[in-house]
Order: sequence, then structure tokens, then C-alpha cells
Amino acid sequence: MSLTEKQYAPKAVVARKDFQSLLDALLSQKYEISGPVVRDNAVVYDRISQTEDLPIGWIDRQNHGTYHLSRNKKKSLFGCINGSHTWKKFLYPMEKLVLEARRDGKKIELQELPNEEPRQALIGVRSCDLHALQILDKVLIEGPYADLSYSRRRKNLFIVAVNCSRASGNCFCVSMDTGPKATSGFDLALTEVIDDDNHYFVCETGSESGLAILKQIPHHEASVEELAAADKAIQNAVSRMGRSLKTDQLPEMLQRNFDNPEWEKVGQRCLSCGNCTMVCPTCFCTTMEDRTDLSGQVMQRWRKIDSCHTVEFSYIHGGSIRSSGMSRYRQWMMHKLAYWPEQFGTFGCVGCGRCISWCPVGIDITEEARTIENSE
Ligand code: SF4
Ligand code: SF4
Repeated sequence: MSLTEKQYAPKAVVARKDFQSLLDALLSQKYEISGPVVRDNAVVYDRISQTEDLPIGWIDRQNHGTYHLSRNKKKSLFGCINGSHTWKKFLYPMEKLVLEARRDGKKIELQELPNEEPRQALIGVRSCDLHALQILDKVLIEGPYADLSYSRRRKNLFIVAVNCSRASGNCFCVSMDTGPKATSGFDLALTEVIDDDNHYFVCETGSESGLAILKQIPHHEASVEELAAADKAIQNAVSRMGRSLKTDQLPEMLQRNFDNPEWEKVGQRCLSCGNCTMVCPTCFCTTMEDRTDLSGQVMQRWRKIDSCHTVEFSYIHGGSIRSSGMSRYRQWMMHKLAYWPEQFGTFGCVGCGRCISWCPVGIDITEEARTIENSE
């Protein structure tokens, strides 16, 4: 039986001191838990089991081509917005074995690959990244070539979303209508509130599984004051978006400007490193790589994440369709903002800002769109 909106409606409050019981409840249900952790001076997503694994007391500062962590006196658990990792690595790994064959005398035998997928819980998924997962679902589950492994992993997933109470210098989810408050696609959604002597999470349930987990955690029904404090925290993020993007008529504007000379200028700055595609939560392009062992007895086919910024990506017989850096950058940005709406009914960008932070030369997709429009 699925729960009605009314049954979800009452919001609960979980005290900071009881946060561990959320992780314990998930562990008792045999979930592998992953969440944000600090490594090499950045926040990445990795396996966690203790509250102390989270980036307690850290916040991120992001700008064009820059990402810094600094200490936060508040000791928040979720003060950092995002880093270079995306959640898709748990659903659609960078490398995946898709075929294996072994030679047996003159016979070639295809090996059966394990099809059990892990039961995963993701802690701290932001609203922009929930939208990114919904975009991946459209391509990898609802599209004409469904990915079985992704579908199985997605089905087994438990999502604890976190509503943003601050925004990074590169966030623009408000422009993309993807945040900062999670509205669907989660099992539990938390808003972290820290004021004077109080530190707690206002918790909303989004599914039966979420409700079942909440019942195992000490909590009380949220008071009007606690709900108001959570709303105020989210409004703080709304008012502090680092960037903005005008989306009205954006696909049409870009399509009109396919030959705009401004593309050459950004093409000259772009290093074709592919960082922007690697850190993007919606990029899903892959290539296939065949490997054999030295004895020639075992062959494997691996699916690997690829990037439209490489010359090889658009190679067909006779050469690459996009041989210049300009044409590859234009393809990447046009796909996100002009072609994706035609293909999938949404933009291919959720405004997370990662591509702006992790571009070594600080190219900013919002600025490039503005430049093209202003030069019309
Ligand atoms: S294009 Fe950039 S801002 Fe948009 S979703 Fe991808 S990484 Fe985030
Ligand atoms: S836009 Fe930046 S991150 Fe993307 S390929 Fe070019 S240099 Fe690399």
C-alpha cells in the first residue's frame, strides 16, 4: 500500500545527538551507506557508517576554477554543498564489466556475469542532484536502451536528501528550478537547523521505506517554530545563489547562434580536458573497451565513462566529426541547454555549478550563455 500525501505530511524533528540512529537503522536493513567525506582537501562521496565520517564543521567555498574547504564554527554535518564527485558513480560506475569470454580449446565460452546489485543508501543528496538522477532515469531506464544494472541499483536505492541552507558561489539551481528544497525523489529529506543551543534536523518522509526508517529513530513532531526555522534556512540558500541563468527562450537563442564568433573565443580557452563532463551529474556518455589477457585466453569488454570533449568521442570512419576544441565545447553546452529539452523534455543542466568550480581555466556555462545572448 502506498502512503497518501496526508500520511507523509507531519514533519518530524531528529536531534543531532540521534543522527547516528539513522545510520544504524539503515545498516540494520543491510544498506551500504555512502555520504560526503573529506579527502585530499575536498568533499567526495564514499562509504560511511558513523556520523563522524561526515565533513563535520567544514564548508566549501567555490568560484571560477576554485574549490576550498574551510572550518565552520557551527559544527554542521552538511555545511558543504558538493564536491567533484556525483552520486551517479554509485549507479552508473566509471568502469563496468559488461562481457567476458574465455577460450576453452577451440571453443569460446561466454561467462555469466553477476547480476546482483548492492542495496545502497545515499546520505546528503541535494535537490539539484535528485533532479539529475531523474534525468538519468529518463535516459537509462525509460529510454529505448535501458541499462539493467542502473535500473536494479536505482530500485534498491534509499535516498536521504538534504535541503540546502547555504549556496556555493557557483550554484544556480533556482534558475534551473531544481532546488534548493527537495520536493520529490527521496525517502527522507532533512533540513539541518543550528541556532544558539539547538542542533536538529527537520525530517520529511517521501516514501513508505522512509517512514519505516524514521519510526526506528528517536524523533518528535516538528513544532511551528522548528518548521519556520527550517524554512528560514532554505530561504537563506535561495537568496545566496552564486550564479544565475536566464532559461526563458534559451534553447531557441542558442540554436539561432550556432555560428556566433563567441564560440571561437571560448574554444580557445577550453583545454578539452573533459573535467566538466566528469563532474557533471547528468553526463552519461560512454565508450566500450575490449581487453585480452596476455595469454589470449580471456577477453573482457568494459563500458567506460567518456567525454564529448575528446577528439575520439566523435570519431567515425575517416576522422572525427568535431576536430576543433570550439566545436566540442559548443556541442557540450548546446547539448545541455539547447538539444536536451528536445530529446528529453528538460534541460541537461541542474545548476549544481560543479563544471564551473572544476574547470581548470574557470569557464562558466552561465557566463558563456550570457555572452552569446549579449552578442546577438
Ligand atoms: S552542466 Fe555544470 S552546472 Fe549544469 S549540471 Fe552539469 S556540472 Fe552542474
Ligand atoms: S570547459 Fe573547462 S573543464 Fe570543460 S573541457 Fe574545457 S577546460 Fe576542461
